[in-house]
Amino acid sequence: MKIILLSVIFYLTFIQSSVGQRQIPVIGINFYLMGMETVDESITKHIGPNMDYLNAAFEGRILFELNEIFMNDNKAFIPDLHKIARSKDKSRINSLVAEVEKVGAINIYLFDTYSVDGSGRAMMGFTPVLSRKRHTYVHNSPYFDRMFISYPGLRDKSTIVHEMGHFLGLDHPWEMSHINLELMGITSEEVYDTNHMTYSTNASSFTQEQLERMQHFAIEFRSYLIDRIIQ
Ligand SMILES: [Zn+2]
Repeated sequence: MKIILLSVIFYLTFIQSSVGQRQIPVIGINFYLMGMETVDESITKHIGPNMDYLNAAFEGRILFELNEIFMNDNKAFIPDLHKIARSKDKSRINSLVAEVEKVGAINIYLFDTYSVDGSGRAMMGFTPVLSRKRHTYVHNSPYFDRMFISYPGLRDKSTIVHEMGHFLGLDHPWEMSHINLELMGITSEEVYDTNHMTYSTNASSFTQEQLERMQHFAIEFRSYLIDRIIQ
């Protein structure tokens, strides 16, 4: 236990000394409107407000820029893609996006979704991430540079913010140990209930600790996606 604590403290000291708040990474985002043949303004009108909401959620610790919007008529459903992403053979996902995918930015793919259990609650989105060996993100690019968001998830702006948390190393609070909850500043029921990493309808903020962690994570493990750093 002591050894773990010491390494955590060392890690936090390292974060503070190596990053600081003044190194602001700027990361581009591409949106891909999948299963679409023509521009649907009732969908594209949500992209700008999603970008604004995302940047507001990150409080200037990371800046996200809209690069490009693509359309492609390949169809798929979010829960099916989620199943493929968790299986061994992920080639179906690669072939779905291969003809449109651009490297060097976060690629957000919009697909339709459905309710798996008939409850009316559909899967809103998911993000394939590495739980270990995060320094290998760069070697696995662009597979782990993707985020899969449902069209209803685009209308509810909190989906992309939650998934960006995963993209930049955050876990759901219920998966975290007590000490990790403390380190992430999730120290009360109220903070828990309003945190972007829960499924709560009240989710509206990250803690300062989470923001710092994601800023550090971006510079450390997602540097190949960073367009520039503002000092
Ligand atoms: Zn999640």
